[in-house]
Amino acid sequence: MPELNVHIQSSLNRTGKEYREVHQWIDNPETKYERHDFSKVLENAKMFTEQYGEEAAKEYVLHLVEDLRCRFTKVLGEHQNLTADCLKYFGA
Ligand SMILES: [Zn+2]
Repeated sequence: MPELNVHIQSSLNRTGKEYREVHQWIDNPETKYERHDFSKVLENAKMFTEQYGEEAAKEYVLHLVEDLRCRFTKVLGEHQNLTADCLKYFGA
């Protein structure tokens, strides 16, 4: 997924602030799967709102959206390559 610095730059572009602590919290290697869990988005957004304000909570959600886009773009690319290879393999 996008590197930490890419997320930080996105926040800077949107808000003028890095929100480094938000992005570091989400991408903590030991807990990153549970912290990217969309079923916890309301609970985590509330925590960020209370701790850093509403804009930080929005940056948390947008981090997830950026990761989602990146993941699905990668998966779709792989799928298209496999499909093209299958079609070529069978002369279709
Ligand atoms: Zn992430």
